[in-house]
Amino acid sequence: MTLLVFGHKNPDTDSICSAVSLAYLKNKLGQNAKAYALGEVRKEAQYVLDYFKVDSPTVLTSISNICNDDKDLVLEGKPKVVLVDHNEYGQSIDGLADADLVEIVDHHKLGGMATDTPLSMRLMPVGCTCTIITQMYKENNVEIPYEIAGLLMSAILSDTLIFKSPTTTEMDKLAVEELNKIVNVDVEKYAMDMFKAGTSLDGYSVEEIVHMDFKPFDMSGKNVGIGQVFTLDIDAVLNKQDEFLAYINSTDFDILVLAVTDIIKEGSYLIYKGSDKLISDAFNVEASQGVFVEGAVSRKKQLVPFLTEAVKNNL
Ligand code: MG
Ligand code: MG
Ligand code: MG
Repeated sequence: MTLLVFGHKNPDTDSICSAVSLAYLKNKLGQNAKAYALGEVRKEAQYVLDYFKVDSPTVLTSISNICNDDKDLVLEGKPKVVLVDHNEYGQSIDGLADADLVEIVDHHKLGGMATDTPLSMRLMPVGCTCTIITQMYKENNVEIPYEIAGLLMSAILSDTLIFKSPTTTEMDKLAVEELNKIVNVDVEKYAMDMFKAGTSLDGYSVEEIVHMDFKPFDMSGKNVGIGQVFTLDIDAVLNKQDEFLAYINSTDFDILVLAVTDIIKEGSYLIYKGSDKLISDAFNVEASQGVFVEGAVSRKKQLVPFLTEAVKNNL
């Protein structure tokens, strides 16, 4: 009987890598298991799979459609499933209640699941599911092959934002240290390349990038727009600053700010329609196009209130 191992819907790197690495471990321990994904693999995880030459898991759509999703799957009775990186019905496969839930490995709060039969649960308040799975390899004395070590390490670096996330624990750092004895990369550089690939703006037009996550506001009667894009592909924007400016200036907004947010540097580069003085006042910087504002990462908590205040004072 095959165990179906999968992470949450709209899978992130941890959901993909923890499913693949736990399925591998199960097989090594003599249980037939296969990793799946509850949605298309995103750019970041695809970068990881390509880097370590691992095939993308098959996508499952629902428990009722499971044999269509995977034609090779042979089922005797209810499908047996193992959840990684989630433990809530809303985040899981449609029809999960019709499956036999045998195990959960996760690092999130309990999400209110109920089962008919006993199951294994491994929940730990660490930065990444793959940190727990690394531990499980050790406990079972199973050697971690190069590509699995790569997947585990990538997921930990992703979920913890290279240990910058407040969810990071000592155990996550130790796991990466151990795993990199097998993978042997410059961790910082590898992680940055992974994040860059994951947040690449390749293929988007200037207009699409400005409107990717855009909100209009009324500030003291002024028509203000704020667009924000999270990327580590900063040069893709800054190298085309003139094109962005030309587009932004052509809009009907009185003031428009495009914030290009770098999650690792924890700040935003601003390209704007509006006076330098306004931007200087708002963000306490010497403003010029493309200026970096340290600490400004939240539109709701930082960009909007600071700009609102400055617009009022600059009427
Ligand atoms: Mg996740
Ligand atoms: Mg996770
Ligand atoms: Mg995540």
